Amino acid sequence: MEFPNWILQRAHVSPDRTALSCGEEKWTFRELADEALDMAGKLRTAGLEEGTRVGLLLESGPEAVFLIHGALLAGLELVMLNSRLTEAELDYQVRDSEAACVIASDRLLEKAGPEALSAGRLAASEGATLDPAAVWPEDRTMTIMYTSGTTGFPKGVRQTAGNHFSSAVASVLNMGLSDDDVWLCAMPLFHISGFSILMRSLLYGMEVRLQTKFDEEAAAREIAEGTVTRISVVSATLARLLNRLEESGLRASGNFRTMLAGGGPVPVPYIRRAQALGIPILQTYGMTETSSQTATLSAEEAVRKAGSSGKPLFLNRIRIEGAEAPGEEGEILVSGPHVTPGYVGKFSDHPAQTDGWLHTGDIGRIDEEGFLYVLDRRSDLIVSGGENVYPAEVEQALVSHPSVLEAGVTGMPDDRWGEVPAAFIVVRTEVGEEELRDFCAERLASYKVPKAIIFTDDLPRNASNKLLRRELKKRLGNRN
Ligand code: AMP
Ligand code: MG
Ligand code: MG
Repeated sequence: MEFPNWILQRAHVSPDRTALSCGEEKWTFRELADEALDMAGKLRTAGLEEGTRVGLLLESGPEAVFLIHGALLAGLELVMLNSRLTEAELDYQVRDSEAACVIASDRLLEKAGPEALSAGRLAASEGATLDPAAVWPEDRTMTIMYTSGTTGFPKGVRQTAGNHFSSAVASVLNMGLSDDDVWLCAMPLFHISGFSILMRSLLYGMEVRLQTKFDEEAAAREIAEGTVTRISVVSATLARLLNRLEESGLRASGNFRTMLAGGGPVPVPYIRRAQALGIPILQTYGMTETSSQTATLSAEEAVRKAGSSGKPLFLNRIRIEGAEAPGEEGEILVSGPHVTPGYVGKFSDHPAQTDGWLHTGDIGRIDEEGFLYVLDRRSDLIVSGGENVYPAEVEQALVSHPSVLEAGVTGMPDDRWGEVPAAFIVVRTEVGEEELRDFCAERLASYKVPKAIIFTDDLPRNASNKLLRRELKKRLGNRN
């Protein structure tokens, strides 16, 4: 299957609808397409031919949206780089994805390395007129996003046009669409949570209200005034938003329709508080490999089925490996047109699907009514302020320090971030907590740096010497 070029098609079908707004500025779909065409010409003039992979290291903002759309028009494959990563982490992803170059916002340029292209300089350059492809094949790789795995090595997930399309369609079949819908995007564009909002906007003809950085005061006001009707949040942003609404005595306008809460489980008290403020909240389960949502709990069921991530979206199927009766636990498997065809780089020969099913690594169960419960996140994943921290990645950084013999990392409860990483260390030679933290900070994004370091004589291991992270969590509990 082929799609008409989404950007041109949208500008043709509904040129005058608002596509994007940020602060006081607004762009229609025609204007957005013009900005993107202009940018595409500049990318081509800079030597980036169709099919070339480029890393994008961008601060959120209208310029980032123009560049993303421009790069899509130019037929590039976009490696969406997380701006919170360190130089070393970025370097790994750029090399692994074999990106031809990195284009970085000026403030991130230094981090991107000496060869990176400045997004500002690119925007100011002269570009040729480009005649973009009229159609996009369904299997075209549009984006590559890195997500870590059990091995501690981030994996580059391919997301095709078909994946993004299916994800957006399944989402709207679930949530519906109205003419005045405006989606507030305060999620990073380099994560599927933010990027998928841009795709929904193109496919639905819907306005994205972009925040360059999550601003709970503005978000609360817009929800109360009804100038936005949808928003995506993670637990940490939800908590800030609820506090703000409650403190200022605001509640959601009748125009406000739904809040999509994902990335991890939303605590039940938050769901109740949101409902008391007139905010219908949709708990969702999704991941980079499924280009966003795969299951969602309807707002009506939010309390009765609290703790559940709902049912699969219409185009998808979900089952529990090995479960013979409702309620049995096992690995969650997902099938559908939104599932990635595979990885790039180091993991390119690891199949993403087996007989059409993605093995998520998450453990869950499906009850007798068909509702999914995610019980245990894969590989003891720590979710800190909506960012994932994989213990294996942090442990690897720690053991690369000459004084560290062994390291075990687990999540520790934190009021602001939900959870933060804590490390148990067995030393070879004496070393201070501060030095270890600094050592990590040079190698890992700040949200991955252990907030507590506990020196110990041994780590809990099973008979086959596998680290028992659950035991670490217990030890942590016993300390308090
Ligand atoms: P990523 O694609 O890197 O953002 O991470 C996706 C992972 O986040 C999933 O595989 C789950 O482990 C976790 N996750 C996402 N949604 C939920 C949810 N509703 N409940 C529990 N864990 C979740
Ligand atoms: Mg992931
Ligand atoms: Mg996540």
